[in-house]
Amino acid sequence: MKMHFARVLMIVASVCTMAGCANLRVGDGRDGFVSLAEAVPDAILEIRYYSTYNFVGSRIDGYEQPCALLSKEAAAALKAASDEAVRRGYRLKIYDAYRPQRAVAHFMRWAKDANDTRMKYCFYPNLDKSVLFERGYIAEKSGHSRGSTVDLTLFDMKTGKEVDMGGTFDWFGVESHPDYKGVTEKQYANRMLLREIMTSHGFKPLAEEWWHFTLADEPYPDICFDISVREEGRVKREEGKGKREE
Ligand SMILES: [Zn+2]
Repeated sequence: MKMHFARVLMIVASVCTMAGCANLRVGDGRDGFVSLAEAVPDAILEIRYYSTYNFVGSRIDGYEQPCALLSKEAAAALKAASDEAVRRGYRLKIYDAYRPQRAVAHFMRWAKDANDTRMKYCFYPNLDKSVLFERGYIAEKSGHSRGSTVDLTLFDMKTGKEVDMGGTFDWFGVESHPDYKGVTEKQYANRMLLREIMTSHGFKPLAEEWWHFTLADEPYPDICFDISVREEGRVKREEGKGKREE
């Protein structure tokens, strides 16, 4: 058991800093992260990059389980936002949270493959795939890899449906800008309701994506992590099981 504990501590997570890449112990990343299923139990999780319903059309590298991780600080703020959403008759529906660097690398590989347009009809029907990188829809770094950014929408508990935001998560286009003028008044009001709930609990919005919010006072502003997306407790149980079987 002692050896198992030591082995867990010895596992290194590859961590990329803004200055370059460095290897840090798990304690520098994993221990600072929590599972949203535990930290924000009222949230609905629909982890698109674990599924095949995303702009790539396949499971994204680094998403090993259909769960969501955030820094403890961002998760605590999200819990407060969730409690407010519930008081107002909604639930938060999470599409993505912490995103490993290897997932971002997967997006980059996909962006360079001009022939792979299998999900174009869902997420970028009006754009040529070749412009996605130059226009910034796909980038080499993502704020999500710092562990305090979340993509989400509101779910209406009365209707049992997602709130109408006048567009879908990960739609590549100006229609995703929160202040896009082409949506209806009601859709705009819904975007602003999500924004109000999130910003009143410490998150800042993004001008290009109505669903994207980052904790303003994020704990790891200069680190992008590359630990995989999986439930921490399950990792430990599996590690323990593996050890016993040896
Ligand atoms: Zn995002």
